[in-house]
Amino acid sequence: MTLAKTIVIHENGGPEALKLEEWPVGDPGEGEVRIRHAVCGLNFIDVYQRSGLYPLNLPHAMGMEASGTVEAVGAGVKHLKEGDRVAYASMPPGAYCEARVMPAAQVCPIPDEVDFETAAAVMLQGLTVEYLFHRTTPIAKGDTVLFHAAAGGVGLIACQWARSEGITLIGTAGSDEKCALAKQNGADHVINYRTDDFVSGVKEITGGKGVDVVMDGVGADTFDKSLNCLKPLGMMISFGNASGPVPPVNLLTLAAKGSLKVARTTLFTYVADHDRCQDMARHLFDKVASGAIKVTIGQRFKLEDVADAHRALEGRQTTGSTVLTL
Ligand code: NDP
Repeated sequence: MTLAKTIVIHENGGPEALKLEEWPVGDPGEGEVRIRHAVCGLNFIDVYQRSGLYPLNLPHAMGMEASGTVEAVGAGVKHLKEGDRVAYASMPPGAYCEARVMPAAQVCPIPDEVDFETAAAVMLQGLTVEYLFHRTTPIAKGDTVLFHAAAGGVGLIACQWARSEGITLIGTAGSDEKCALAKQNGADHVINYRTDDFVSGVKEITGGKGVDVVMDGVGADTFDKSLNCLKPLGMMISFGNASGPVPPVNLLTLAAKGSLKVARTTLFTYVADHDRCQDMARHLFDKVASGAIKVTIGQRFKLEDVADAHRALEGRQTTGSTVLTL
């Protein structure tokens, strides 16, 4: 048994609830591996888990994503061996640490072309983009997607992914600088939704037709208006709550606005199956290795400064992905 620096919460609260402690790390059991982390990723879900919007049994170690090296392999693990370079984005939380034991099924090998920092930055947000574009609703070349918070971590990857697939992406963002960044990353059109009404912006861009799909990680502030941006039979994918959770939806509204469809998705359903998870990771790393996706690491914080990282993320001060260095 060794000790590892680990970020833990004992109660829900603001960034000050995040505590640095030494936690024991044991040997992996059946179906598990022990990973020595190189870099940890920061994601908005970490904020929901810290605040209590997504409840955890407390005390709990925090963080959902990291890259590193396999140190020890438990019985029955076939796809990994000691010394492998790996990354993961999965339950249970506890990735903000130097080393840990993880269920192996969702731990994925990293190809040689991808460095640890890129892997830690892209894993959770990139797998999310993979399922949004390929596993949630059919999206064809030439379709138009409205993507909110397009200059964020998921957002900048989504802009590039859409470009690589020939999908037209209209991105919203909270400042002109963020809009410019989304455009540089492949958004075909951008709307500053703090200064301009995005519904009329989308109508103007699409010649009144609306978009095929909305991908909305912002939630409370954008959900209702986003329904007004869809074509008849359009698909609303709600996948986050950065501005707060979406209130209950009246299904009759969906009929009245044109037989709309709504999905509320989470990555953890998609990666729960081992084969699908590994397939998604290969697809993502192919995109990164080919240069189609260039990961923008907008911020780096030391592990012990994770509270500052949370403040920046919640304060809308970040762009692209954020990593925690060890
Ligand atoms: P981001 O880097 O996108 O940061 C969140 C962004 O949301 C902010 O930068 C800000 O951009 C925008 N935002 C709008 N309103 C608010 C608000 N009131 N407070 C804070 N931010 C606001 O984060 P991630 O890339 O980590 O995640 C993006 C979203 O996707 C999150 O909701 C996250 O939970 C969700 N997600 C969901 C997954 C799933 O499978 N369901 C998986 C991964 C992420 P701006 O200033 O431009 O408005």
